[in-house]
Amino acid sequence: MLIVQKYGGSSLKSANHLKNVARKVQRTVEQGHQVVVVVSAMGDNTDGLLDLAEDLAQTPSARELDQLLSTGETQSSALMAMTLEQAGIPAKSFSGRQAGILTSYDYGKARIEQVDPKELRNALAVGITPVVAGFQGVTRAGDVATLGRGGSDLTAIAIANALGADRCEIYSDVAGVYTADPRIIPSATPLDVLNYDEMLELASQGAQVLQTQAVEFAKGQQVPIYARSTFNDEPGTVIHQGESIEKPAVTAIALNRHIAKIGLLGVPDAPGVAALIFGELAQSGINVELIIQAMSHNQLNDIAFTIEEQDVKRAEPIVEDCLRKLGGSSVAVDTHVAKVSAIGSGMVGRPGVAARVFKALSSGDINIQMIGTSEIKISCIIDRQDAERAMTLIHEEFGLGQSAEMIED
Ligand code: ADP
Ligand code: ASP
Ligand code: MG
Repeated sequence: MLIVQKYGGSSLKSANHLKNVARKVQRTVEQGHQVVVVVSAMGDNTDGLLDLAEDLAQTPSARELDQLLSTGETQSSALMAMTLEQAGIPAKSFSGRQAGILTSYDYGKARIEQVDPKELRNALAVGITPVVAGFQGVTRAGDVATLGRGGSDLTAIAIANALGADRCEIYSDVAGVYTADPRIIPSATPLDVLNYDEMLELASQGAQVLQTQAVEFAKGQQVPIYARSTFNDEPGTVIHQGESIEKPAVTAIALNRHIAKIGLLGVPDAPGVAALIFGELAQSGINVELIIQAMSHNQLNDIAFTIEEQDVKRAEPIVEDCLRKLGGSSVAVDTHVAKVSAIGSGMVGRPGVAARVFKALSSGDINIQMIGTSEIKISCIIDRQDAERAMTLIHEEFGLGQSAEMIED
């Protein structure tokens, strides 16, 4: 088989971690398979580089930031190639450009437009294991562009697709996708299978284990993903096209602590108000998720919405400007909120799932500030300090956890 194996930063924290990964690759090669390795930057190297850039420049140039951040993966690919060679496996590192990954011009969140894996094929043909630097590609102008946080997952899936690989394995520090983040909910259980839509919702609602754009790409190209642990041989989770077997109402719970709620109070209740506010935000590339508008009174309305916390600094002046134009009373920004989401394709056509989510939260005296739903998701905005408790209560309500004895085992 031809297998693409991606190892994330948490699997590459130190020289010993690199040796451990090299042993895993070696075992796969010795079983007679061809392997293409994709690596992330070591540990939290990317965060370190970002902090350094922010110390030196208030708003660093997006091009320079990508040029800088890509070096984390470039380093680990060369180091991994050396480690493999040391273990007796002929290996060669490839940058995104050398691996033939062509991207759009959107620095920091570039899309992969094309993969020409000719050089990777040439290496494989002569028994060399390619080690590709994840998270990066090159624009048509020849500049490095990165694929968004967690983007090495996308590199792996795009390369697996371009090579027509038999398997794409994403290795991290957890044994696949769980019913909730196992670091927050110790009783969370690993899931054997998930369909693309559930994984997409989970990833976009905050489960870090796979990058949203990577799952989108996998869904579009029908690439099955095998999410596994670097540190054990558990089979992990397969993410593929949906299966029709009877499913539980809720499959998993996700948490996003990095959101903020913005309210415009006392704006006129007139046509064009929402169009102005959300038009201006969209023009600045700010993604708005949940929106609520209160019942109007005295021809005035309150409108509140959520955005990613990192966008608050950019959104605030835009919203203040809208308020001035519209003649409202004030803007309220709340960065002490979190979003907890229950996800499952089994909730389709099953009434009462939302009521159970709300009941679980009310049993913990947790106030719901906003609600959003889709066919396979129920999201609630709550106080950030209630986030873990909320997750635990919903997880328990839907019986997703292991029993205490199972955790002991
Ligand atoms: P890597 O460094 O390998 O890319 P990540 O840190 O990006 O790994 O993703 C793995 C982490 O995702 C886990 O350590 C876990 O805390 C987090 N996570 C969040 N939600 C889930 C979930 N539902 N299942 C598994 N892991 C999850
Ligand atoms: N190193 C990058 C990040 O931290 C990409 C990745 O790990 O997938 O986001
Ligand atoms: Mg990751």
